[in-house]
Amino acid sequence: MMLGSAADFDVRQYLRLEMMPHFLCPGCGHGIALRALLWALSESGIDKDQLAVVSGIGCAGRLSAYIDANTFHTTHGRPLAFATGLALARPDLHVVVISGDGDCLAIGGNHLIHACRRNLKLTCLMLNNEIYGMTGGQVSPTTSDGMLTSTTPLGNGEPAFDACALAAAAGAGFVGREVTHHVPKLKELIRQGLAHPGFAFIEVLSDCTEIFGRKNELGSSPEMILRQKSEIRPSAYRDTVDTPFRSTTLHTGVLGVNQRPEYGSAYRSAAASAKVAAKKAVRS
Ligand code: SF4
Repeated sequence: MMLGSAADFDVRQYLRLEMMPHFLCPGCGHGIALRALLWALSESGIDKDQLAVVSGIGCAGRLSAYIDANTFHTTHGRPLAFATGLALARPDLHVVVISGDGDCLAIGGNHLIHACRRNLKLTCLMLNNEIYGMTGGQVSPTTSDGMLTSTTPLGNGEPAFDACALAAAAGAGFVGREVTHHVPKLKELIRQGLAHPGFAFIEVLSDCTEIFGRKNELGSSPEMILRQKSEIRPSAYRDTVDTPFRSTTLHTGVLGVNQRPEYGSAYRSAAASAKVAAKKAVRS
């Protein structure tokens, strides 16, 4: 079944309604990110039967269960590894990975850098809410400096990872970042990532209202999302905390495009040549 055009986009068409109500807390940014992804898939005209969504563990990892397509909820930190095998075996599929900041950058960090280096056609959405929300609010690789989590009760003293800089340095074909406040921009960025012929890494800055927001007294979910409008990581969060670390401003939009050869086509072409050479060797 073809996904609908933007004009008649109805998110319910792409959801497993039998899975409702969903588990997300009220105001969680992950629901907004999911809607933007489904809108982008709809605009891209990707057939649901030709779509595979692979996710890891955590609040972001649960999202694949709600998408009415071929979905795989895999082990912690490993969605890119599963997706790599799937994309190599089934190049006819559009393979999308949904991962959280802990899943993608901590336990799955090694898979991420090698997926970027390999440049196999995959679209990876990393939903960054700066915390392990599902498991009790522990510090993650992207927690901003000074922020409170259940494992940093005095404030985080480690600098936050810039995931897009990492992905670009590791060779990802397409790198971009957007906030959940700007839904049409987020949808457009994901649509461009889906169209990219190699590995596309998209970081979505998404609010964890219930754990991160509460712990850091960031206000209601509308207040949290309005903060995204002017600044990605508001200095108001950090200026009250005296730490030696200061996160740099995180830019949004398309941050890099690298048109080097896509791994899957190069692999299949090398395999086809090897097959021909082997046949010739048998005949001679
Ligand atoms: S714990 Fe945080 S990330 Fe998880 S569903 Fe609730 S608000 Fe969203």
